[in-house]
Amino acid sequence: MTEEVEMDDARKRYEFKKTLEKLESGEGSGTELITLYIPPDKQIYDVTNQLKDEFGQCANIKSKQTRTNVQSAISSILSRLKYYKRPPANGIAVFCGTVQLYGDRTYLQCTIIEPPEPLNLYMYRCSSKFELEPLMQMLEEKYVYGLLVLDKREAYWGFLRGNRIEPMGGANSTVPGKMRKGGQSAARFGRLREIAIDEFYTKIGERASAIYLAEKDFFERFKGVLIGGPSPTKEEFEKGNYLHHEVQKRIIGLFDVAYTNEDGLAELVDAAKDALKGMTVIEEKEFMDRFLKELVKDAGVAAYGEESIRKNLEIGAVDTLLLSASLRKSRLRMKCQSCGYTEEKTVTIPPGKTVRDIPLGNCPKCSAPLVLEEEVDIIDELAKIADQSSAKVELISDDFEEGSILYTAFGGIAAILRYRTGY
Ligand code: ZN
Repeated sequence: MTEEVEMDDARKRYEFKKTLEKLESGEGSGTELITLYIPPDKQIYDVTNQLKDEFGQCANIKSKQTRTNVQSAISSILSRLKYYKRPPANGIAVFCGTVQLYGDRTYLQCTIIEPPEPLNLYMYRCSSKFELEPLMQMLEEKYVYGLLVLDKREAYWGFLRGNRIEPMGGANSTVPGKMRKGGQSAARFGRLREIAIDEFYTKIGERASAIYLAEKDFFERFKGVLIGGPSPTKEEFEKGNYLHHEVQKRIIGLFDVAYTNEDGLAELVDAAKDALKGMTVIEEKEFMDRFLKELVKDAGVAAYGEESIRKNLEIGAVDTLLLSASLRKSRLRMKCQSCGYTEEKTVTIPPGKTVRDIPLGNCPKCSAPLVLEEEVDIIDELAKIADQSSAKVELISDDFEEGSILYTAFGGIAAILRYRTGY
C-alpha cells in the first residue's frame, strides 16, 4: 500500500479479524498446512534448523502429494525467514500450506502475521487446518477489567483480558477473629479489630489500585473494576473509598463470591457475566441508539444502504459512518482493455472462493471481457472516503441486538448525516 491511512484500533482489529477468518477457512487435503509461532525471544536460526529437520523427515510421509506439499511449504517459510535477523517485537506467526480452493484448484498460501500482542509460545504444527487459537485469544482483548475479591482475612486481585483471567497478587490480613481472648474488654477488642480491618482494606486498596493504574493506556482501555466477596465486606470496602479515586469511580458492581483467593477471580467473572456483556458494547450501542432515534424522528439525517451512503459520502454530508463488522464485501474496479471503459461494483466473496471466482462480465460499449484492476475491502474503501471529509467511522459488532440489526436490516452500512440531503 502506498497511501497508508492511519488506522484506529477498531479498524486494526477488524483487519486482524478478517485475516484470521481467511486463514480459518483454509483447508488442506492432507495434514499439510503448517502453523509456526515464533515468540520474540526465539532465535531465528533455531527455527530454521528445526524446519530443515522437518524437511528431512518428510521422506517418511507416505502420500506423495502431501509430501511434496509439506516440502514446498517448508521451503517457502525458510525463504521468507531469511529476511528476519530476529523476530519482531511481538514475534511472528506463519501460516503456510497448499490450500484447497473452490472446485479442484489449490494454491500455496503463505501468510505472515506480526501479532498485536506478544506471542508467548513457540509452536510448529502440521495439520489439515491452521492453528489459530493463540491469535484468536488476542482478538478478544479489546478492553481490560480489574478483578478484586476480598473478605476480612484475605484478598486477591488481577485482570480480565478478553476471556483470560490474569491473577496479579493477593494479601492476607492479621485481623483477629471474632472471638476475643479472655481478659480483654469487649469494647477494646472491637476497636482493635476495626482498626486492623481498616488497615487491611487500606492495604488492599493501595496495592490493587497501583496495579490497575499501571496498566498500559489505563484511561482508554481500563473499563472498570469488579469487586467480589461476602456481604457486607465488599459493601463496606466500596463505601470506604479505599481504592484510588480513578479506580473507585470505575467500579462496575459488587458480586457475591465464596472464594477470596485466586480461585475467587474466576468465580467473580462468572457472577459478573451479564454486567460485562453490557459494558463491552456500550459505546457501539450509543451510536446505534442515536441512529435509530434519528430514523424514527424522520428528520432525514439517518441514512442507510450502500447507494445512499456513497452519495452522502461524496458530498461530504456524513457525520458518523456506521459499518457492521460482519460485512464481508469487496469493491471491484474493472476495466475494458480494448476501449478503456471502467466500472466499479460491490460483490460478496463466499468463503473458500476468491475474487477470481466472480464473473466480471463484458464491456457495455464494445463487449470485450472486463478485466479486474483492483479489489478493495468495502470497509477500507468506505472508511477512506469518509476520512476525506473528516467523517467519523465506527465499526459496529453484532454482539448486541442493535448491532445485529445494522447488519440484517440496514445491509451493514448506515450513517448519521450532518444535514438533510434527500439521498
Ligand atoms: Zn470496451
